Amino acid sequence: MFFAANKPNGSLNILALRRLGVKGVEIRKPEQLQNVSSLIIPGGESTTMAKLAEYHNLFPALREFVKTGKPVWGTCAGLIFLADKAIGQKTGGQELIGGIDCTVHRNYFGSQIQSFEAELSVPELVSKEGGPETFRGVFIRAPAVLEVGPGVEVLAEYPVSSTSVLYSSSAVQIQEENAVPEKKVIVAVKQGNLLGTAFHPELTSDTRWHSYFLKMGSEAQEESPSSIVPVGGVDPSFNEKARIDLPIYQ
Ligand code: GLN
Repeated sequence: MFFAANKPNGSLNILALRRLGVKGVEIRKPEQLQNVSSLIIPGGESTTMAKLAEYHNLFPALREFVKTGKPVWGTCAGLIFLADKAIGQKTGGQELIGGIDCTVHRNYFGSQIQSFEAELSVPELVSKEGGPETFRGVFIRAPAVLEVGPGVEVLAEYPVSSTSVLYSSSAVQIQEENAVPEKKVIVAVKQGNLLGTAFHPELTSDTRWHSYFLKMGSEAQEESPSSIVPVGGVDPSFNEKARIDLPIYQ
């Protein structure tokens, strides 16, 4: 169900899907994409992932997949790949898949040590999935969306103080501290069949984003049944098995 599956985040997405009774498979080769109904592009290091994807000649097949209308979700580096434009450190020449009409800043929030967790207001997620009003976002060397086109729904934003803007984003003009007390950056977006989150839902035990994504698949299926090739689908035996609690960020 996703590529760059050698990344730990990939396996954690499989575990999250499994908790919802859905089987995920790892995608490494272009031809495997023909057999899946949806795709999660996980986090990682986008330049390394791009090199691997180029090596395996995955980009043309990934772009085709995006065009089929089947759901594709990019988390963190995955979001960077789905953006039409990426800026920020070392983005020069890095190949993207594209599809979401937005500009991302690759390392908006800074380096590994600026990684953080935050409760995000997620009204659209709550309206579809219920549960708590907020979702705990785990941001690891995270990107942020700086601009979106008219067809893009903003599903979550994160308030940044003027000092953190000053620190972390070369794209945002340096402002006097307190001149702008709070600014928001976009951290979750949806455009048609494409979903992007700057944070890592697979690192929490809250499966609402995974569930939301799976529903995007059934909505698309209702609209055009032939475009979806269910693979694995819901395996009822998964529900019988002991629930696996994800090890981190409960
Ligand atoms: N900012 C990272 C990159 O550019 C992505 C980090 C992540 O996926 N956790 O690749």
